[in-house]
Amino acid sequence: MTGSSKFAPFLHALALAAVILMHTTPSSAETAADAAFRQQFGDGFLDRFWQLNPDFAIASGYYKYADRLIVPDERARTARLVQNERWATELHRIDPKKLSANVRADWELLDNEFGATRWSLTELRAWRWDPAAYNVADPFALLTTLEYAPLETRLRTFLERLKNVPAYYAAAKASIANPTREHTRLAIEQNRGALAVFGPELESQVAGSKLTAAERTVFAQRLAAARAAIDDYVAWLEAFDAKLASGAVEARSFRLGRELYAQKFAFDIQSGDTAEALYERALAEKETLLTRMALLSDLLWPKYFPNATPPADRLDKIGRVIAKLSEQHVARDNLVAAVKEQIPELERWVREHDLVTLDATKPLKVRETPPHERGIAGASIEAPGPYDPGAPTYYNVTPLDDMSPERAESWLREYNDWMLPILNIHEAVPGHYVQLIYANRSPSLIKSIFGNGAMIEGWAVYAERMMLESGYGDSKAEAWLIYSKWNLRTVCNTILDYGVHVRGMSEADTMSLLTREAFQTEQEAADKWKRVTRTSVQLTSYFSGYAAILDLRESLKRKQGDEFDLKRFHEQFLSYGSAPVKVIRDLMEPR
Ligand code: ZN
Ligand code: ZN
Repeated sequence: MTGSSKFAPFLHALALAAVILMHTTPSSAETAADAAFRQQFGDGFLDRFWQLNPDFAIASGYYKYADRLIVPDERARTARLVQNERWATELHRIDPKKLSANVRADWELLDNEFGATRWSLTELRAWRWDPAAYNVADPFALLTTLEYAPLETRLRTFLERLKNVPAYYAAAKASIANPTREHTRLAIEQNRGALAVFGPELESQVAGSKLTAAERTVFAQRLAAARAAIDDYVAWLEAFDAKLASGAVEARSFRLGRELYAQKFAFDIQSGDTAEALYERALAEKETLLTRMALLSDLLWPKYFPNATPPADRLDKIGRVIAKLSEQHVARDNLVAAVKEQIPELERWVREHDLVTLDATKPLKVRETPPHERGIAGASIEAPGPYDPGAPTYYNVTPLDDMSPERAESWLREYNDWMLPILNIHEAVPGHYVQLIYANRSPSLIKSIFGNGAMIEGWAVYAERMMLESGYGDSKAEAWLIYSKWNLRTVCNTILDYGVHVRGMSEADTMSLLTREAFQTEQEAADKWKRVTRTSVQLTSYFSGYAAILDLRESLKRKQGDEFDLKRFHEQFLSYGSAPVKVIRDLMEPR
């Protein structure tokens, strides 16, 4: 009896290794259906997909069709739909039940992708009501900044692409029928901003290049025509907006409504749960967080307010303690340097606490955000796509130079000494940066390309909590209180998105929820209101992904007991690429 138990852990480890192997090396269990899938939806499929989606291709590091700017007219939409339906039919000729687990996940992602494309072209039809869907700037900007080829090659691609800009905006005008005011205003702002991509900086790039004199002449002509087309679109939108404002033309509501919202949620989030259920969960989570924050505030009160009695109202009390803690922050000029210092500290922590293996060959480069990319203050990861995994990953930190002293102070208070590390955990280590490295290593291009936003954001949000659980921040009440405030923002994003788009939540209710119950500044709350009137569903991705990852982890912990290994869980979870958590769960915890 004692003899057999001695070997039990070894056998168990072997069994686990076999499970992991089965899920990460698809070739070992390749079925005939797998082969058919790979044949049908391999490189040939992707090449055709990129041909139809050249903007997306550029962003993914696939440049073969970078010289194409698709004119977004009825013909292009029909061509997309026809091809989409052909693919969907081919996909459904393959029986997903006959596929091995990893390939079945790809099948499901494509099924969702084709369904989402059909739905957005035939049901959502944002091309009729969202003027901000039309903007040529981003792919052009990438061509000038990504150094995937010599400057001249990229400028010639740029030049070819420029040809269609006037036709592009003519098609936009012909497509728009009943826009919302909010998206009209957004399109005006963003297309005005687009002009910068075609401005003096580009002209000096062309002047300093080895393009021929003839090429330069054409460049100047097309550039002028492109700028005129953008100016014209903006003027046309201004006129349209005036009609919407006066009521001469009835504006569409920016609120998506229950039915469209439920459908969009199903395609974008892919959690298998309803939006309504997530909303209910977020409401409950808000209450849990506030209860914990009140306790933490009681704990901290005597330390920070030794001579005062705490307010009876728990929201007042929490708000006062947070305000006090927010006074401790880096100096305005020291922001970039402080972030630079924190990244190696986070990496050391992750290594020493055995949380996830970091790839030392892909160092993160912290830098000031390049001027042309500075939109909103803060920090963000700029990572290479699946076709260019060797390119450097930058952590862009925007210095607060352009801010008034009041705004800078408000930003610094928000990203105080406890919050700034959480931002770095989320964006960099072990959040987005680490996840993207794993995703680019995933054997499935389909999972990398059709990545699920809720999984990506969910991982970053999960990483924050996981770091605090590991003792980061010395398990201090201050760290947990500020973290809870940050987490509350995620939870409120879900409440807000569903509340506004489905339940008709007002601007006043939004402001009160965010400023009073989530301790945000007026400015932050106003920005969030703006965002929720211009986007939908995306704001729920953070909480939904986070909740699903936590659920999976806790379920595996219960099943595996002492065998559960956090690092192994993280690495296996990340090994599937950016697939929806529901799909990963089916792979890690087959039912
Ligand atoms: Zn200050
Ligand atoms: Zn994020």
